[in-house]
Amino acid sequence: METAGVEVLVAGGGAAGLVAALAAADAGASVLLVERDPVLAGTTAMSTGLIPAAGTPEQAAAGIADSPALLARDILAKHGGRTDAGVVERLAAESAPAVAWLQRHGVPLSLVTGFTYPGHSVMRMMGTPNRTGAELVAALARAVEAAGVAIVTRARLADVEAGPDGRIAAAVLERPDGAVERIGCGALVLALGGFAGNAEAVARFLPEMAGATMHGHPGCRGDWLALAERLGAALADLDSYQGHGGLAAGHGVPILWPSMTEGGVQVNRAGLRFHDESRGYSEAAAAVNAEPGGVAWSIWDARIQQVLDQFDDTRDARAAGAILEADSVAELAARTGLPEAALGATLAEVAELTRSGAPCPFGRRFAPRPPLAPPFHAARVTGALFHTQGGMVVDTDARVQRRDGRPLPNLFAAGGTARGLSGPGASGYIAGNGLLAATGLGRLAGRSAAQAARETRP
Ligand SMILES: Cc1cc2nc3c(=O)[nH]c(=O)nc-3n(C[C@H](O)[C@H](O)[C@H](O)COP(=O)(O)OP(=O)(O)OC[C@H]3O[C@@H](n4cnc5c(N)ncnc54)[C@H](O)[C@@H]3O)c2cc1C
Repeated sequence: METAGVEVLVAGGGAAGLVAALAAADAGASVLLVERDPVLAGTTAMSTGLIPAAGTPEQAAAGIADSPALLARDILAKHGGRTDAGVVERLAAESAPAVAWLQRHGVPLSLVTGFTYPGHSVMRMMGTPNRTGAELVAALARAVEAAGVAIVTRARLADVEAGPDGRIAAAVLERPDGAVERIGCGALVLALGGFAGNAEAVARFLPEMAGATMHGHPGCRGDWLALAERLGAALADLDSYQGHGGLAAGHGVPILWPSMTEGGVQVNRAGLRFHDESRGYSEAAAAVNAEPGGVAWSIWDARIQQVLDQFDDTRDARAAGAILEADSVAELAARTGLPEAALGATLAEVAELTRSGAPCPFGRRFAPRPPLAPPFHAARVTGALFHTQGGMVVDTDARVQRRDGRPLPNLFAAGGTARGLSGPGASGYIAGNGLLAATGLGRLAGRSAAQAARETRP
């Protein structure tokens, strides 16, 4: 079946697709957004929804000195610059204007205070009132609808029609009943998320996470991998991913990482620490999974719990019974089943390191935060795969590049479908890289796609 064409077709209804659709509509294009699921959600709705932005008025009001250059430096420092610095710098430069633009479209973003995430020099995360991705998706969907974007759900982008020069002429959509629709378009934005929901691709590209718990959107199946192959699009960093070393085992709720960075620790079944928890939650996933049983106990205290309580995720974790409390080391050992002598020795060593300021054997320094004090809080956790970070190579306008380095004429990618900002592997991810690539590249992709469609208008 053939339907009349649109100027910009956006495939995928997570943050990247919604922001791209909004930007393309703002630029005056007719826009159709197609989403395979019955509702708009994606990984974005499962997330904490925090977007980094440097140089915002909210930071200035809080007395925080920040700049796009510092944000770009922080992102690049985590992996030694092993990604396209030009893309990182562009997204950092656009981060504060993008947040202000989203706020003008009614997306309620405010500065998250109280702690900084590992790898970030200053507080710069912007989040919705309850710090949830579901709120972010709902606000973006309202803005997109108000901007006049047509949204079709239960429509999977199955294929594209492209000319010999790689110019996309139409998208081929597949409906749940098997019906196929062809929709002509002046430009196409691919915002299909990553491939964490495709076990075969995970085993191939991220072998260390094969078999790990997947706590992302199962519909992110990397349908774009085959499209990239056919169109000759360049792919990079397919081994890159966002893991999390603190998913409450058996509960499927993340115990947010300030539990560690504010002074908490992880111990294995023997009651022993096994890594530097302050490096980041992403690389912690493989570290936890390498311990016996693929589990660890995260331990923190009431002071840190206050920091965690600003997040809906924490309320979910409490409601699920994932967090236990203990008034003493003996009670903590009894409730967790950890050996009391080893647990006591570990916590005593951490207290001593906190007082002395010396680094632990894994290189972590606990000072200047206060030592952990009873009542303790603890959760049994495992290492999970959240979202993949490798994808189609894009330039600073989100234009997809061919393997020979030339851009494809009217194809754009954003979010998990594009090469992210995290370099290869798991250790290059810092908090916010996911939604910065989704919202930042999404905005650039939407604008560029509107421009490309206008240039090809008959
Ligand atoms: C628990 C958790 C917490 C997180 N917290 C944060 C955070 O606070 N900050 C941060 O920066 N990042 C965070 N992330 C990562 C972040 O959620 C992702 O990087 C981001 O949501 C990716 O957005 P996206 O639009 O690319 O993908 P998604 O939100 O996954 O959207 C992709 C959409 O495409 C659809 N789709 C797939 N294939 C097709 C197809 N063929 N046709 C049509 N539609 C298709 C999917 O159904 C989906 O709706 C978190 C991730 C998790 C799992």
